[in-house]
Amino acid sequence: MNKKTLKDIDVKGKKVVVRCDFNVPQDKEGNITDSRRIEAALPTINYLIENNAKVILMSHLGRPKEGFDAKYSLKVVGESLAKFLGKEVKLAEDREVVGENAVRLTAEMKEGEVVLLENVRFIKTETKNDMEFAKKLASLADIFVNDAFGTAHRAHSSTAGIAEYIPAVAGFLIEKEMEIMGKALDAPVRPFIAVLGGAKVSDKIGVINNLLEKVDGLVIGGGMSYTFLKAKGLKIGNSLVEEDRVEYAKEMLEKAKTKGVSLYLPVDHVAAKEFKADAEAIIVEGNIPVGYMGLDIGPKSIKLFEGALKEAKTVIWNGPMGVFEMPAFAVGTKALAETISNVKGTTIIGGGDSAAAVEQLGYADKMTHISTGGGASLEFLEGLELPGISALNDKM
Ligand code: AMP
Repeated sequence: MNKKTLKDIDVKGKKVVVRCDFNVPQDKEGNITDSRRIEAALPTINYLIENNAKVILMSHLGRPKEGFDAKYSLKVVGESLAKFLGKEVKLAEDREVVGENAVRLTAEMKEGEVVLLENVRFIKTETKNDMEFAKKLASLADIFVNDAFGTAHRAHSSTAGIAEYIPAVAGFLIEKEMEIMGKALDAPVRPFIAVLGGAKVSDKIGVINNLLEKVDGLVIGGGMSYTFLKAKGLKIGNSLVEEDRVEYAKEMLEKAKTKGVSLYLPVDHVAAKEFKADAEAIIVEGNIPVGYMGLDIGPKSIKLFEGALKEAKTVIWNGPMGVFEMPAFAVGTKALAETISNVKGTTIIGGGDSAAAVEQLGYADKMTHISTGGGASLEFLEGLELPGISALNDKM
């Protein structure tokens, strides 16, 4: 990475403000139901503590609409973090985030101490990259560290704006995400196979286009595959389709041919008449009959995709192969997760649904990398610059 990281700077005695992604899922009572995002931030936080920095943490949590709302307070995050760190985390309880408490607590800090600011989205203009707010955040610290990969594709006051005012470097999580995905895109060990699924072609237009420049094989399953099958002239019954993307799908089929990329589409389907967990399902090959919709890839497609991945040395996967939320239509996604977990090479899972599927199925430890940012990893795979990373200082 051509951006400075934590290792490039001296943090001893310095006030370091770290943008984390503590946007954890919560139940109705506000309890954290999955603390992986907190755990993912620990290497950076622990490094700063061990190297005698004064650690100031900030994040968003949920989408508070009207400024301060106790429901979206980072208090629960602070409590969880204190347990992981085995030390006190002081919450600066300011409705305006940078208020009296934040100023006092950060002024009083000693080396190795941790202060947590309130939810940055209590300031409504945070997501507009409001420079006044960015300046206030910067006024609390000497150095800015961005470690929130999940929001790196957004230019907000706490991810991009703040870097205008104080030295700005990447934390270990962002460094790791960029290194692993960057290497896969720029210098992959081949064969390099990408697996794309999920609902819509339109969400992944840029990704398909960019990956066709890089990969040796592209596997397409899930809802988005029906637009491609239609483009190939097959009958798709009532399956999910984006009529206005059929032409684009044709262009991509052509592009794959021109680039010599093997493109794999489902050859059979688990289809049903209704979009329901207990709908009666049939397996169909080729054309899907009128009245039926494809909800998962069939057994022959699973075999075909397994074959495509067998010799792979680099794999990137984003998006489920079917409606995996319904057990009857989760078979294809499960099979792919298992196949990818057995690949002898680098395996990268984009965030979102495929990451959740891999975690739930217990394959997480067998993958090289599970990205912590769904949207950010997709934009990275599209070849776009991520504003939260471009804003950081370049290496000399
Ligand atoms: P995405 O957010 O684009 O990754 O899409 C994930 C969603 O796609 C999941 O909620 C799946 O249920 C849905 N999905 C996958 N395959 C199909 C399909 N064949 N028909 C309808 N929805 C699907």
